[in-house]
Amino acid sequence: MLITYKTEIKPTENQAWLIDRHIGASRWAYNLFLDINQQRYEMGYHYMNAYTFSKWFNNDYLEANPDDIWIKTLYSKSTKQAFIDADTAMKRFFKKQGRYPHFRSYKRGQGSYCFVKNSAKQIIQCERHRIKLPKLGWVRLKEKGYIPTDSEHFVIKQGRIKKHAGRYYMTCVVEQVNLMPCACDGEPIGIDLGLKEFAILSDGTLYHNKNKNGRVRQIRKRLRRLQRKLSRQYLALKARKQKEGNSATDLNLAKTQLRVQRVYQRLTNIQTDYQNKIIASVVRTKPQWVALEDLNVKDMMKNRHLSKAISYQGFYTFRAKLVAKCQQLGIPVHLTGRFEPTSKTCHNCGYKKVDLKLSDRIYQCPKCGYTEDRDINASLNIRDTENFELAY
Ligand SMILES: [Zn+2]
Repeated sequence: MLITYKTEIKPTENQAWLIDRHIGASRWAYNLFLDINQQRYEMGYHYMNAYTFSKWFNNDYLEANPDDIWIKTLYSKSTKQAFIDADTAMKRFFKKQGRYPHFRSYKRGQGSYCFVKNSAKQIIQCERHRIKLPKLGWVRLKEKGYIPTDSEHFVIKQGRIKKHAGRYYMTCVVEQVNLMPCACDGEPIGIDLGLKEFAILSDGTLYHNKNKNGRVRQIRKRLRRLQRKLSRQYLALKARKQKEGNSATDLNLAKTQLRVQRVYQRLTNIQTDYQNKIIASVVRTKPQWVALEDLNVKDMMKNRHLSKAISYQGFYTFRAKLVAKCQQLGIPVHLTGRFEPTSKTCHNCGYKKVDLKLSDRIYQCPKCGYTEDRDINASLNIRDTENFELAY
């Protein structure tokens, strides 16, 4: 089973410089691949795939273009991966699964430093706080102990470093081998996701909606202002370009762009961190199973009034992450049917209260007298229903 980890790294100045060079080179290599193949196409030559291209590049191209020999000082697998990426994008286009690939640009933050595990014997060393990467040496990790270091059960296969808003992020693919059977005998957990509160667990734990938090609102407000500023600057530049030609630039626009990216990243980080914390506390007790509603996020997004709140909540990413984590630990995940009346049903006797209003915060059963918080009653029903599908 493959698991992907993404984490921020803390390279030294020299390492950052090296990573930047690799990122630039990978962009260059990607674009060269597209460019050469396009020229070949126009001249009626056949398409070169990544493998042929790489051979041609190392033998013929570099001999004919000695100015580009600097690329040889970099980690060759990173360049090769750029060819493979371009090849994949082209093939997707040939199969009509995508449009013609764009050239990669600095402005869009594209390009990456790639590393791979070469052979069966080679190990990419990783410790709690650092990872050893080709050409870079030991690179410090910001989140200690996040990437598994137990090499008997986890093997790092490959990864990438990307730069975003002035920071460096590494994603790496880890294969889990010799799976340990999970001794999951804890109380099962039902989760009710909502807009008012983010999540309510069947054991009564309540996770507030972070978007209503003052700090987050403040940041979101700042983001909106910056985005308005950015679009003003962009329009101004466009007008100037018409007057002065394409050479007109706006340095402040680039600054605003970076600020927008930073603020946006900040929000994403807050959300990711919160969701990870919830997931960690859900799996900590090793429940027999975890159950949640199979929300149709797409349908909900169509509703204008709900869509904003829902997209902010990131229900979808939360569910995907939770399922992945449970799968990794061997905890079954039940997805209860979308039309299951989980809030209307009494958890104690199964009576269906048809006239339940949204404003009724307490569920009171007219038949057996059972009284419980509305959301806890719902999450208990989600937990115990037999009408479910397994998530994996
Ligand atoms: Zn009842």
